[in-house]
Amino acid sequence: MGRGWFGFEDELGPERVVHLWHPGLGLEGIVVVDNTACGRAIGGVRMAPDVGLEECFRLARAMTFKNAAAGLPHGGGKAVIRADPAMPVEAKERLLRGFARTIAELESYVPGPDMGTDEVAMAWVRDEIGRAVGLPRELGGIPLDEIGATGHGLAIACEVACRHAGLSLEGARVAIQGFGAVGRHAAHRLAERGARIVAVSDSRGTIVNERGLDLAALLAHKARGGPVAGFADGRAAGPEAILGVDCEIWIPAARPDVVHEGNVDRLRARIVVSGANIPITAAAEAILHARGVVQVPDFVANAGGVICAAVEFAGGSEREALELVAEKVRANSEAVLQRARAEGISTRRAAEDLARERIERAMRFRRFG
Ligand code: NAD
Repeated sequence: MGRGWFGFEDELGPERVVHLWHPGLGLEGIVVVDNTACGRAIGGVRMAPDVGLEECFRLARAMTFKNAAAGLPHGGGKAVIRADPAMPVEAKERLLRGFARTIAELESYVPGPDMGTDEVAMAWVRDEIGRAVGLPRELGGIPLDEIGATGHGLAIACEVACRHAGLSLEGARVAIQGFGAVGRHAAHRLAERGARIVAVSDSRGTIVNERGLDLAALLAHKARGGPVAGFADGRAAGPEAILGVDCEIWIPAARPDVVHEGNVDRLRARIVVSGANIPITAAAEAILHARGVVQVPDFVANAGGVICAAVEFAGGSEREALELVAEKVRANSEAVLQRARAEGISTRRAAEDLARERIERAMRFRRFG
């Protein structure tokens, strides 16, 4: 017989799996506190009709690695609530307040926003139990998508990757999949550093301009509700066309698993820096590694959001958050790329080893490991 009740336990965790069941409230949920050796677990509250235990565990573990890789004084956790996030707002408030009261004693877990929850939901949670991150500005929150924390970190990861690839960021051609909060801020920050954004895509299509897109005009077009492919100053193509764009740097900033064994050969870039979570399958990452493509894995490159949340939790300011994002993403991208080169391993393996070592060192300070 294996160890553990669920089959996914290992030496890191999960420390606690809490089942929330309250028929009167309509609350059906799970909280996984994976590992708290580095500090209280921070992780989002996901609300969707089809969430499950294993998903919750995998997301909690991903947070353990992401927080440790970023060198934050936080462990990883996650909560899932099985419900339709589009329910009427009064019902949603009642449910989230009920959820918060139910986890009031679970002080090792600090909730944050995720799919189906937002800063207003976190304000309700904080109002009930006095802790949550991703809060509205009025409550000391740092609006990470407004200030572009994740895009800021991605641009810095690109700088580091360029140095490792022997390329100059100035003049480098960049293609970005996804033009939402992450993609558009990354585009802007890279253009500020002299890179040329030659293509961006959204769910409806791709726009390409080899001379470099006029980002201010494209943003204005997008704000009027137009798909990027409807932008006049460029060549329009379907959403998949972004994969084959001629460029030095390719940034996925949309959905999981968009690059896989079946399409990875279309990528032409020398550098891939991941903004989205798990946008490239393990098999495709291995193929890129074998081709010598310099990759900065998702949980290193896109840690800007969680670093911002940690600064908010500690009572810091927006300026401090952006400074810390820059410092940490730069240092961690550098450490991961150097280690991968020195040991002849993939950057994902190097990043996971680095995170695991930090957690194991932190675990040695505890009385029971
Ligand atoms: P968003 O909803 O603001 O934007 C998503 C963008 O992706 C939109 O432009 C959408 O049109 C586009 N898109 C959707 N499907 C697409 C497809 N098939 N092809 C091309 N484009 C497509 O989301 P976001 O906040 O920018 O987050 C993007 C990704 O980054 C998500 O995977 C998210 O989990 C991850 N992430 C976000 C943050 C953050 O700070 N917001 C932090 C870490 C990771």
